[in-house]
Amino acid sequence: MSIVNNGYKYYEVLGCSKNSTYDELKRAYHKLALVYHPDKAKSKKNGDTDCKKFFEIEEAWRVLSDNDLKIKYDAECRQAELELDNLLIHDRINVREMNAEDDVLSYPCRCGSNYLISTEEFTENSIYIPCSECTFCIFVEK
Ligand SMILES: [Zn+2]
Repeated sequence: MSIVNNGYKYYEVLGCSKNSTYDELKRAYHKLALVYHPDKAKSKKNGDTDCKKFFEIEEAWRVLSDNDLKIKYDAECRQAELELDNLLIHDRINVREMNAEDDVLSYPCRCGSNYLISTEEFTENSIYIPCSECTFCIFVEK
């Protein structure tokens, strides 16, 4: 399960927010497109990075400038945000509250299944563990 949230990335690329108006987005796009245009990037040391950035800007604008695509994109971002919220709020526990058996740590999920992780996988100071059955997730700290 991926916990990465790319929500509203296109707005970020343009240095705008989801509340920005069409005109604000358009202005931001034109400004950035000039700065990162491949013709200009070629002569620069970090030209390749700028080129990549330029295509990100183009892609973001292609979606956000099209009303239908924008509505669809906003809905997808909102959905991703809600899912992440659900994951985050379910439970926060300390690793000492987990049951340890051999090298496996477990914690009961309210769906009846368990959150499972091996001690080997738990290398960070904190980790998100998805339930093995449902879409819940817990946050565990050492
Ligand atoms: Zn569960």
